[in-house]
Amino acid sequence: KLSGEVLAGEQGHGFDFDVIETICDSIAKVVDMGVSVGIVIGGGNFWRGRSSGSMDRCRADSIGMLGTVMNSIAVADTLIAKGVEAKVYSAVAMEPIAEIFTADKVRADLDKGIVTIFGGGTGNPFFSTDSAAALRAAQIKAEVIFKATNVDGVYDKDPNKFDDAVKFDELTQSELLNRGLQVMDASAASLCRDNGINILVFDTEVYSNTGGQSSKSTPIGAVAQFAASGKAVTKKNLAQIAMAYGYVYVAQIAMGANQAQTIKA
Ligand code: UDP
Repeated sequence: KLSGEVLAGEQGHGFDFDVIETICDSIAKVVDMGVSVGIVIGGGNFWRGRSSGSMDRCRADSIGMLGTVMNSIAVADTLIAKGVEAKVYSAVAMEPIAEIFTADKVRADLDKGIVTIFGGGTGNPFFSTDSAAALRAAQIKAEVIFKATNVDGVYDKDPNKFDDAVKFDELTQSELLNRGLQVMDASAASLCRDNGINILVFDTEVYSNTGGQSSKSTPIGAVAQFAASGKAVTKKNLAQIAMAYGYVYVAQIAMGANQAQTIKA
């Protein structure tokens, strides 16, 4: 699941095609490994129904859902340009722009190695694309949701706002719900819990753009932005690492780190 925000890059709104390119490079690598990939994309780079002020929520959410379709088309186009077969499915009827989602059609596509992109969220207001990701994951019998955000994992509070935020290495879906953590909304987390779907949260900024060099949540992380403009870097592929080792450990050395301590570590 890609949040809409990540497609906007630093500008925070609309498309940053350098970023989309980099994300699609990572997706292409995963596809090359023979992994079936379905992608749910958010719409936060255009519109979020819940932040629409006095507008009727159902209509506001309709705009949000349309935003997710726009994002899906942009990602599909970038993948296709890279020679990756990709198809956009929509939760709401809008042919010929996108075919309507059915689990059977999508499963057949996934078996053929086609990347399926799910636009339109769940097709209903009052839901988020996290819920759509959980729902689609259950429908296509996915093993895991990789949730790409702008935070590099799950914390007890927002690490961008609180210096003392503590990161969890592992949590059950029930713990996620009981602790009221804002990783994804409760409807998404409960769907994952009830259907045994694992969720791996990671920072797109780090893994797609910088090869894991630095985190956006640190001021120094801004340095890592150079990679977003297309400078060649060796990109670590989180999915690849996860599948090869079963576990992923992330080590970080901050700029200005004590050299002696670093060597010792
Ligand atoms: N949305 C909706 N139903 C859904 C999924 C999304 O109405 O099933 C609308 C809602 O207005 C939401 C917007 O689409 O605010 C964008 O989705 P989301 O906020 O999940 O995007 P993200 O934060 O992941 O970019």
